[in-house]
This record gives sequence, C-alpha cells and structure tokens, in this order.
Amino acid sequence: MNSLASKDESKDAGQRRVEFGFPILTVRTKLFSKLFDKLGSLRFSRLISWVALVIVPIVAGLGLYLVFSSLLVLLWNPAAGDAAREAGLGAYLLLPGINPFLPLAYGWIGIVCAIAIHEGAHGVAARSLGLDVKSSGLLFFLVIPIGAFVDVDEDQLKKASGKVSSRVMAAGVGGNVVVAAVCLIGVLAVVGGLAAVIDGVYVYEVDQGLPAEAAGLLPKDILVSVDNVRIDSMVDLRTVLDNKTLGDQVEVTVARGDMWKGLFSTVVNLTISENKTVMGIRVGDLLIEERLRAYQNVTFETVAMYLIPPPLASGLVPFSDDLTPFYTHSFLGAQWPVIANLLFWLWFININLAVFNALPIYPLDGGRMFNIALKGVFKEKNREKLVSAITIGVTVTIIIVLAMTVAIPFITPFFV
Ligand SMILES: [Zn+2]
Repeated sequence: MNSLASKDESKDAGQRRVEFGFPILTVRTKLFSKLFDKLGSLRFSRLISWVALVIVPIVAGLGLYLVFSSLLVLLWNPAAGDAAREAGLGAYLLLPGINPFLPLAYGWIGIVCAIAIHEGAHGVAARSLGLDVKSSGLLFFLVIPIGAFVDVDEDQLKKASGKVSSRVMAAGVGGNVVVAAVCLIGVLAVVGGLAAVIDGVYVYEVDQGLPAEAAGLLPKDILVSVDNVRIDSMVDLRTVLDNKTLGDQVEVTVARGDMWKGLFSTVVNLTISENKTVMGIRVGDLLIEERLRAYQNVTFETVAMYLIPPPLASGLVPFSDDLTPFYTHSFLGAQWPVIANLLFWLWFININLAVFNALPIYPLDGGRMFNIALKGVFKEKNREKLVSAITIGVTVTIIIVLAMTVAIPFITPFFV
C-alpha cells in the first residue's frame, strides 16, 4: 500500500493518503480542508456554532427523557417489550441490512450523509474558531462509502477555552439537527402536494365460492356504486345491502386497474351470511383523504408520528409502500414516493445521530461538553477528581439504562 501514499502529504501530515486495513479503506484528502477553510471563514458558520451550543443541551434533555421514559415503560408494562422482542436486537442498530426496519438504499444514503454532515460541521466550526483540522477524509467498506472523519487538532482543542472547544464539539450535533429539520420540512412539503387518486370502500379479499367471485369481483377493486347507489363508505354499502335479501340481484360497479381508472360492472346474486345480506367480499374504508390530512396536520400530539419509520406505521404514513398507490403529486410525478422516503430517512437518521451524540456519554460530543461545563462550574475549587467522578458516573448510568432498555424485552420471558 506504500506505493499509493502520496510522499508530500505523508511528510507533512505524518499519515498516508490511502490506507487499507481489511475491510476498511481510509482515504484522506485535502479537498475537504479547503472546503472547511472557505465555509469556516463565513460569519454564518460562527453564528451556527453558537446556535449549536444552545441546541445540544436541548437535544440531550430530549434524549435523556426518551431513554429514561422507555425504560420506565418497559419496567411497568412488560407487554411493551413484545414488539421489541419480535423485531430482534438488530432493530436497535442504525445499520441497513441488520435493522429490519431500515431500508437498504435509503438507510445507507442517510447514514453516509448524516456522518459526513456531522464530521463536516466539526471541521467547519474548528476552522471558523481558528483551530486546525489535522486530516479528514472518507471511510469505505471495501469500495462502498460508509462514513467520513475529521480530525480536529486535539492539543489545540485541549488548550482552547471551554467556550471555543464546546462550540467545536456542539457543531456536529447542530449540523445534524439543522439538516434533520430541513428534511422534515421537505417531507411535509412533499406530503402537502399530494392528492388522493381515489377513496371509498376497498376490496381486500374475495371469498371463494361466494357470488362476488362468480360475478368477477377482484381484490384491490374499489366500489363505485351498488344498485345505482353511489358507495363512499361501508355505511353506504350496508344500507343498500340491508334493504335486499337472499336471491336479490344488484348491479355492482367497481374501479380497477392502473390508478383505478377503469370501470367494471357486473351483476351479483346476493346471499346470506350470519343473518346479513352479503356479496362475499371483505371490504374496508380506505380513508385516503383522512390519512393524508392527519399526516399534513402537525400538532403537539401527533409529532411522535414523524419519528415512526413508514414500514412500522404503513397505515399512517402516506408514502409507505401500502398507501403510496392511492396518492398522486401535483408536480413531482411518479418519483414522489422516492423523494418523500429519501427526505424522511435523512430526517430520521440525522435526528437519531444528533440525539445519541448529544447524550452526556463520555467521550461522545455531549459527554465531552458536559465534562467541560462541569470544569467551568468547579473551576475555582480545583476539584478535578469530582469532575471526573461525575462525568464517569453519568456516563455509566446512561449506558446501564440504555443496556437495560435493550436487554429487558429479551430477558423478561424467563421471569413470567
Ligand atoms: Zn461529533
């Protein structure tokens, strides 16, 4: 691998440009340094690192609330662990291919982007505050990009004032929060442009051997009219059928085919099941308009909905695989679900990465900032041991709580 290393750079940085330690390939580049210099010289970057300093404690507070409240839920209500047990341990890892809810392509794009933004924000903040970036580059798993890194000069960071070093550390989380917010607004903007293709009563199943099957009704049909009465809901359908009896014939019209543009009419001989007049189809209200309005309407009570991955709440999320066929976008065309999902996963992964890194766990960014803040508090009393003890105590406590939250769903079955 020596031949690949640039001689000039290995001299001044003491590091090789390309390194391969199976299976991770590390590529260092000067390109990013120039970008950090440029962005770091902007007044905007200094402002952002101040904002980040305020954001991190808020995000950390939110994260601690989530961590402790999920532990309490699991302790008081063991049934809450069932879903976690079914999903498996992989569901706790933000790794596409291992986490069953993380789609491979969106997950991978989201993670690489979130890490690059996080590390890049550290680099820009460091340069804007006059600290050096020793090296930066990309990490590959064999040839697939999996991450990025920025090495801010640790000695300078140690010597810098608490405010300066905290701003550099806060920038990573701040960058992720800003990108997450922009992407969530993007999701809402895409969903805001959606319109229902069709709505009404949907045929989930056609029972074998019953009249509807013989008349040619199919799953995925949507009822338009029965006996010349327009059907908008299950109530409409029940009203029509309740006025009929065994052996009556009704003319049924359904929409089907591509975007339900086609109409199909047939005659169904009604039969009786459980004292009700029926055709032999399993139906349900689609509520396409209602689901859309619910997702578009952001309120304090519904905010948790935007943190649920679409595969876990397919009936709530208009861009889930189940609901996508029922909507069109006014100008994004057929690609709208791809754009919505990409923005969703960028929001989801950035906010998760931000929350985790903001937690006061040493040596994560939040833990280092917590340590610096403590040093500030106990500055005059010269109590470094106390500062270390608190930092370690808080770190260990949070790790234990996190470990318990992950472990409890998998160990409780042996107790009951
Ligand atoms: Zn960081």
